[in-house]
Amino acid sequence: MPQNLDPAESNPPPLVGTVIAVQANFCNVQIDPDVPEVGGKLILCTRRARLQKIGISAIVGDRVTIDEIDWQGLKGVVIDVFPRHSLLDRPPVANADRILLVFALAEPALDPFLLSKFLVKAESTGLQVSLCLNKSDLVSDKERQEWCDRLGEWGYLPIVISVETGLGVKELQVELDRQITVFAGHSGVGKSSLTNALIPDSNIRVATVSGKLSRGRHTTRHVQLFTMPTGGLIADTPGFNQPDIACAPTELAGYFPEIRQRLTTGNCQFNNCTHRDEPNCIVRGEWERYPHYLEFLADAIAWEQQLQSQPKLENNLKQKSSTGKKKFEPKLDSKYRQIARHTLLQSQGKLSDEFDDD
Ligand code: GDP
Ligand code: ZN
Repeated sequence: MPQNLDPAESNPPPLVGTVIAVQANFCNVQIDPDVPEVGGKLILCTRRARLQKIGISAIVGDRVTIDEIDWQGLKGVVIDVFPRHSLLDRPPVANADRILLVFALAEPALDPFLLSKFLVKAESTGLQVSLCLNKSDLVSDKERQEWCDRLGEWGYLPIVISVETGLGVKELQVELDRQITVFAGHSGVGKSSLTNALIPDSNIRVATVSGKLSRGRHTTRHVQLFTMPTGGLIADTPGFNQPDIACAPTELAGYFPEIRQRLTTGNCQFNNCTHRDEPNCIVRGEWERYPHYLEFLADAIAWEQQLQSQPKLENNLKQKSSTGKKKFEPKLDSKYRQIARHTLLQSQGKLSDEFDDD
């Protein structure tokens, strides 16, 4: 135990850390690595009653202040939760910086349309989007280069790796330093293999809390953040793996770097141009993903129409009873819950109570 940090002796100031796991009414907070002597330590915390009263919860990724630390038992109390700069709902992660979309160059073959859909979905989170192409050991240099050139035209600079041979894995680790990253991608591309390569001990989950709380389904259900040796954090549960186009049609264009680029060089005749059949549209043209844009636009229009035909939000609440408490939870289509970053900046405390063990 650090001598000058014994609460009984020196009444130390509260410390700041990141919530890396949440279980029942507890959360595991990792003290910031640069704090002298205790940096990186894991403290099992409850939440101060005042926070519970005003409905402020903490989820994985939250930056929190902790106090009343018992250094023997590594226990403490969360006394404050900082405002979030981003919020993902699936998996529930606060303050994520980046979505790392993992695709394989082969086995399974890289499907451009599926990749495009994942990219649009990733862009819709408002987070930085990076594209990682795995299994480079399975393709020729020429094939790899062709994909890189093609994706460059889409506006992405892929990070090419092979978990199998280790190519590019260290560089990726450095790239993800000091950030919270959520992986996404369909199964079989190598996400688990990559996680294991980046975090050698990722099979070690945070120790469960003792007693009856340690039993049952909630001990492993929640997403957990793992620290890479270089310091970055990655979520152990991948994000969306069945991407759907669930956004307002007017927002879709913003999710294509090619369209963003075109719109920096000029404007369409109409402010609300859907870039489909309007005259004097500067987006419509002979670029590779334009047909994808049109297809996703049709999906977005259908999604919006479906949403508009749903009963009003206030009529669409279901009462949910868990842990004996009654609470209301929006019964919206889960698609609708993918919330854009800018609407989330003030979202602190608006989530359902994630400390509940449901
Ligand atoms: P996930 O479903 O995305 O988590 O994919 P997995 O990590 O389970 O990997 C799927 C399969 O691809 C496994 O058989 C891995 O051994 C294999 N795999 C992962 N990375 C590579 C790679 O870089 N090269 C090759 N050849 N196979 C890989
Ligand atoms: Zn247009």
